This record gives sequence, structure tokens and C-alpha cells, in this order.
Amino acid sequence: MKREIYLVWISFLIYNVFMAKNSNFSQDLDKLGINLSSNQISKFEHFLELLLAENEKYNLTAITDRDEAYKKHFIDSLSLINYGVDLLAEINLIDIGSGAGFPGIPLKIAFPQLNITLVDATNKRVAFLNDIIGRLNLSGIKAVHGRAEELAHQENFREQYELCVSRAVASLATLSEYCLPFVKPGGLFIAYKAEVAAAEISSAENSISLLGGQAHQQMSFTLPNSDIVRSLVGIEKIRETPSKYPRRAGLPGKRPL
Ligand code: SAH
Repeated sequence: MKREIYLVWISFLIYNVFMAKNSNFSQDLDKLGINLSSNQISKFEHFLELLLAENEKYNLTAITDRDEAYKKHFIDSLSLINYGVDLLAEINLIDIGSGAGFPGIPLKIAFPQLNITLVDATNKRVAFLNDIIGRLNLSGIKAVHGRAEELAHQENFREQYELCVSRAVASLATLSEYCLPFVKPGGLFIAYKAEVAAAEISSAENSISLLGGQAHQQMSFTLPNSDIVRSLVGIEKIRETPSKYPRRAGLPGKRPL
């Protein structure tokens, strides 16, 4: 009898430790209005383990604390839901400069019917992304190695996506030249930004209009249960992008339109 009580107590402790570890994440998800199954939660857990392990070798991300990674990588990536796009739809989404998988991998885990393409110019990162896709057994997602300026001229990528997202890659003017060519007319490009800088937006106006875009919506909010300010800047694709864009690799960064 004593032994049974002991076992119940031990399992209660283990349960509590496990719940405590994930409770902040669950609360944050609730605040975003996202419901995940235990299988999806464990995919996030698994992704975090792989990210932290890989980080020791390759320095993929500056964030090494678990809670911080949950908030600044996972919740931040999922905060796209605040924009109001229908993430439950079966649409093609491309993530430009995905790095270690942000925001694309969290979006795939939480909204599995999205058909996702991750793009990165660094081979090592694409190898990591492919490894994650395999280990987490994700389908309807692929990682492509290349520069946005080059891939955007290939017909299997150009204007093939309802939604293009990108986080922490370049200024809005440069990013518009990387991203808008991938978007179908009628679709959206949404940039994840730390805070909306009015100057950054106004200096991107020329670039956006030359590339066939138009300002759509711009919003700022704090991540759930934190004072971390984030902005989403959305550009609608209203016309086809002229075929001369994007210019050759490097130019959008060096000389924004
Ligand atoms: N989006 C991730 C990574 C940001 S770091 C995150 O938020 O954590 C920027 C990434 O963009 C790097 O991995 C870099 O290789 C990639 N990148 C920069 N310019 C690029 C380009 N022109 N085409 C494709 N990838 C690019």
C-alpha cells in the first residue's frame, strides 16, 4: 500500500513538472486563440530539443533559453494569426530566409494543412530544415536552398503563393523585392518586424509599388504575457511583378528600389 501511495505521488510530481514546463506555452497559445493537440505540442517540444542540440554545434539562433525560445520563436511565429489571414485554408505559403525554421516550421506544426516552402541561402540551414522535416514527420513542407533573387525567376516559384512571410531578413524595401515576386496577384506578403518604423515603411513605398504591391494592413501588439512588441506589415499584391524584378543577387540589399 505504501508503495502505491509513493508511486501516485511520484507520478503526480512528474506530471506537475511536465505541465509547468509547458504551461506558459499553453497559456500563450490560449491567448492567441490557438488550440493544439498533445501530438502537436510534443512536436514543438521535439523541435526545441533538436534546435537547442544543433545550436550547440552551429549557433543557429541567439536564443538558448527554453522559455525564451517558446516565446520569441514559437509564439512569435504563430502570432501571424493576429493579422486575420485564414491559416486553416489549404494555401501555398513561402517563408523567405527561414534560417532555423522561423516562422515556417511553427506554422506548419500548428496549421498542418498549409502547404509550405522554406527558402534559405545557407546550405547548412537548409540541411537542418530538412532534418527537422524528416524527424518531425512533417508532410506538405519542403526546404529549398537558394537566394530569393534567383528562385523568384523560376516558373515553379514565381507568383505561385497566396502568402509569403519573412522574419528578420532585411529592411522592408529589400524584403519587398525578395518576397513580392513569389506572391500570386491577390495574395499577401507579410513581414514580421520588431516594431513598425514609419521611416522604414515610407522608404519602401517606391519598391512596393514597382513590384506590384500596395500597403494592406499594419499592426502592432505585444506577445501574450509579455511586453515584447511585434509588428506585422502586410502588402497586397495587386499587379503582376514586372519580369525584370527581382534584380540580380545582392542588388536588392545594396541598392533598394
Ligand atoms: N527567419 C529566421 C532567420 C533570420 S536570419 C528567423 O527569424 O529566425 C536571416 C536568414 O535569411 C539567414 O538564414 C540567411 O541565410 C537568409 N537570407 C538572407 N538573404 C537571403 C536571400 N536573399 N535569399 C534567401 N535567404 C536569405
